[in-house]
Amino acid sequence: MAPATAKGNLFIISAPSGAGKTTLCKRLRKAFPGLVYSVSATTRAPRPGEVDGRDYHFVTREQFERGIEDGLWAEWAKVHDNYYGTPATPIDQALKQGRSVLLDIDVQGARQLLDRYPEAVTIFIMPPDMQTLEKRLAGRGTDRPEVIARRLENARREMEQKDLYGHVIVNDDLEQAVARLVSLVGSYLDKNQGQGG
Ligand code: 5GP
Repeated sequence: MAPATAKGNLFIISAPSGAGKTTLCKRLRKAFPGLVYSVSATTRAPRPGEVDGRDYHFVTREQFERGIEDGLWAEWAKVHDNYYGTPATPIDQALKQGRSVLLDIDVQGARQLLDRYPEAVTIFIMPPDMQTLEKRLAGRGTDRPEVIARRLENARREMEQKDLYGHVIVNDDLEQAVARLVSLVGSYLDKNQGQGG
């Protein structure tokens, strides 16, 4: 049982694709194994290797839409004809128990979440510069130039909204970015009696 005075933090982390968010979040979770990681729900089909309940909660369209009506989602969006949403109950329960929660979510989702959880600690991961981002996006595989251009444009649009976030971390050097992120999150957890680890 957490002490009565303990209070969980909600950490919201966003980044344009190619900024290294997935790696940073993995490292953060390793540093603070007590952080509750929110698993999203989606109506899209699982990809090979994806596990229900770990990568996503895979639900039907009917289940998702019923969830909208019942207010089950802390935020949700429709992306490429599929629904994606963050279940509210696990977040609310964890926070109530004094545990801290990590949400890895895009800018639109973060906006909706801030309406619901104005006290959330928001962190935006930035690539060092557009050239580096372009290289990272292009270096991923065999995508066509127009696909890379579209991703870059999306990234640019997301980066324009970084002022929404309380903290910005530039991922120029991975180890340094991990250290900054761990130190930032750690400082909040310390304040709240180290509930993350
Ligand atoms: P994918 O299908 O490739 O896993 O994800 C497609 C898109 O859905 C990504 O841009 C991802 O950020 C977004 N997404 C995943 N989970 C959620 C969620 O819980 N809420 C919102 N709003 N978007 C999500």
